[in-house]
Amino acid sequence: MTRVPLASAAPGVAQPTVLVLGGLLVLVLAGAVAGLLVARSRRRRHDAATAALAERLRRDAHRDALTGLLNREGFLHVVTGPRGAVAVVDLALLGQVNDTLGHARGEVFVRLATERLVGVRLPVLQGEAPVAARLEGDTFAVLLPDVDGHEAHRAAEDLRERLLAPYLVEGVRFEPPVVVGVAADGPWLADLPPGPERTAALLRRADVALAATRDGGDPVRCYDPSMGERAARRLRLIRGFAAAVERRDVRVDFQPVVSLGERTVVGVEALARWDHPELGLLLPDEFVPVLEATGQIADLTSFVLDESLAAARRWLDRGMRLSVAVNVSVGNLGTPGFPDEVAALLAAHRVPAELLTLELTESGVSSEREVALPVLRRLHALGCHLAVDDFGTGQSSLAHLRRLPVDQVKIDKSFVLGMGTEYGDVAVVRAIVEMGHTLGLTVVAEGVEQAAVRSALAEMGCDVAQGYLVSRPLPAHCFDTWLDSLDVLPGEPGAAPGPRTLIA
Ligand code: C2E
Ligand code: CA
Ligand code: CA
Repeated sequence: MTRVPLASAAPGVAQPTVLVLGGLLVLVLAGAVAGLLVARSRRRRHDAATAALAERLRRDAHRDALTGLLNREGFLHVVTGPRGAVAVVDLALLGQVNDTLGHARGEVFVRLATERLVGVRLPVLQGEAPVAARLEGDTFAVLLPDVDGHEAHRAAEDLRERLLAPYLVEGVRFEPPVVVGVAADGPWLADLPPGPERTAALLRRADVALAATRDGGDPVRCYDPSMGERAARRLRLIRGFAAAVERRDVRVDFQPVVSLGERTVVGVEALARWDHPELGLLLPDEFVPVLEATGQIADLTSFVLDESLAAARRWLDRGMRLSVAVNVSVGNLGTPGFPDEVAALLAAHRVPAELLTLELTESGVSSEREVALPVLRRLHALGCHLAVDDFGTGQSSLAHLRRLPVDQVKIDKSFVLGMGTEYGDVAVVRAIVEMGHTLGLTVVAEGVEQAAVRSALAEMGCDVAQGYLVSRPLPAHCFDTWLDSLDVLPGEPGAAPGPRTLIA
């Protein structure tokens, strides 16, 4: 194809025609240029809008929509200095507010907590509002920019204090159990320069310290490396529990309970054990709090109830009417279906309800009364007995217990163990026995290790005892062997099954 110069006419074409065509061409070109310019400016505006949108999306991705605080991702982009610390604060109440008043009220509660958090004035921040994030639910992170471990701990206590006061949501009063995990600068951070990686490392360790508060003790904990090992162990327990029940690595041991008057075995307490293939025999003081924190406690309670009622049935079939006591967690009482489950298991094993005692810790029943009371009433209506365990360690008075449908009080073993040496403990035990009887309760002493203590308890009129003096908790088959070693109450042929005498 030959190119035609624009300015020159093609040979043989008349001059005026060339002019007209040239004019038209200029017009077309001008139009095209103008179009191009408009398009370019449009594109520029569009690009600016896109950039703003991208920026907003990036910001939104770093913000929590409900509270306007940073979210976890956003918090990681906050750079900590060489002495920066991180506190993770957990209010552990949102679930309860949601369950009681619905999710909308749960959001109100989270906003109230946020207001307190951003309104806090910590001395270590020289009165500045803290940089805070909502990690999830009612768990928040706070940056403490320039502190040592000691100052971080104090700041965390101030934060907790501020968040602890009761919350009024729709006229309902909630008191959250606030716990704080703190991670401050330490040798384990040595190689990390200030930046997101260091913030992430602090946040992870503050989370580990937070998990450690769930073992009880101080509600504000600073990270130390041994917590990491414990956290890893906890995680193994959490992940391994279901399979352990399936493999029957989890089992129930029975410890006899004897009447102090007639010296007969009247029942047993069922105590959970976990025979872990790698970690060895685990005791409930280690795994029960872990299962309580994850909600898996419901499965443990179901398992222990099932095993205990099966054993009670076996003993009934052999002519022994032994009651079984099963430990129940506060978490079980938060499940409205729990009494139905108990009723179904009693029916399935054909065990009369009065042979089942459910033991609850004193702190458990007093802290969650609103939630627990209707469930306790329904359990009581089934005919089960209810016992307050570890009595004397909590805050509640016996008079307060009268308002609960309980039948038994178990004196905490620390007092019973102390009876041999501490006069004060003898006085406490005597007072509990007397007041318990005044309220019409059966009084149980646990932790009876010495014959002299047993005699003293019998002399005080304490009803029932349990302890190493009689027997340690035994696996089911060992317990049956132990029972067989006892002198049997002869009983009339065909008489109702009775308890067995104990020669000890
Ligand atoms: P607890 O209910 O107070 O149970 C009594 C504990 O005292 C048992 O510890 C028992 O082995 C121990 N003990 C009994 N007699 C004596 C004695 O003479 N001297 C001493 N020093 N100790 C004695 P264990 O089996 O380690 O259980 C610890 C706690 O774990 C129990 O305390 C109970 O609160 C909880 N637990 C056990 N099994 C279960 C369960 O199935 N579910 C739940 N939720 N908690 C359980
Ligand atoms: Ca108990
Ligand atoms: Ca106890």
